[in-house]
Amino acid sequence: MKSACFRLVSAFAGLAALIMLAVSACDEKQIAPPVVDGELAMKYAQGNFELGPKVFRTEGAKKSAEWIMAEAQKIPGFDKAGRVRIIPPTRGEYNVEITFPGKAPEFVVIGAHHDTKRLFSVPDFAGANDGASGVGALLAMADTLTKHVQKEPLPCTVRLVFFDGEEALYQYTETDGLVGSRAYVDMLKQDDSARLCRAMILLDMIGDRDLHIDLAGNSTPALADVVMAEAAAAGYADKFSRGETDMLDDHYPFLQANMNAVDLIDFNYGPENRYWHTGADTMDKISAESIKTAADVALRVVWRLAENGFADL
Ligand SMILES: [Zn+2]
Repeated sequence: MKSACFRLVSAFAGLAALIMLAVSACDEKQIAPPVVDGELAMKYAQGNFELGPKVFRTEGAKKSAEWIMAEAQKIPGFDKAGRVRIIPPTRGEYNVEITFPGKAPEFVVIGAHHDTKRLFSVPDFAGANDGASGVGALLAMADTLTKHVQKEPLPCTVRLVFFDGEEALYQYTETDGLVGSRAYVDMLKQDDSARLCRAMILLDMIGDRDLHIDLAGNSTPALADVVMAEAAAAGYADKFSRGETDMLDDHYPFLQANMNAVDLIDFNYGPENRYWHTGADTMDKISAESIKTAADVALRVVWRLAENGFADL
């Protein structure tokens, strides 16, 4: 009987271990945010880059918006997971919005601009990092989120927004530059959904092979804290820092409307920033790994915020 008893005890011990394992796996599943496929993000960036110049208020920007919408619709299972639309222009901008409804109506906007700078000196400027890298990140997220909602619902609603008219045609003024993000924020105010927007996470110039993201100084401090914590948790502490320089970027209209916003930007592109707004901003300067780094941290931030009931903010 002693041996039978022993067997019974060890069977119980085995069962308990199995339950513990299952519980911890379950916990892990609940808190593990999905990650993007970096190579896929690069393919999307390449496709967007190959469209050529995407200058605000030109056919190129309109074509880029249509291309983004078509790429989203091509993702297997997307039609059941989310929806995509080009928001009717109010001042010549072609913003694209992909929405993934989640468990909660509160939403987080993850944004990037898809237009490119008009450069008279480089008429065919197509912006690999400054434009296409963010587009690649967001489309790869759309692919990831489509797969994720087939397994379980998202902890909150996620909107992936591709802004037009970020670049100033001449110089930044109230009406030149940030046109798409200003129009988007106006829309949130008008349809009364601004109160449900818990955070805006902007990705800009995140493809640099030599990535170092320096959060814009005018980011919401509590949100920047969460980004830094999640970057460290993902093993990317060395690639992130909190900057002191304020940025006039697409997160700014959200800040002006009293919403939480953070700008993930690497504004040091090439020696002395020489690849920025020059013909040197080409696909060989960006990498799948860099885009994935920024995209994965953004998704981690969404999960962390939503699972804490946005108490961090
Ligand atoms: Zn730019």
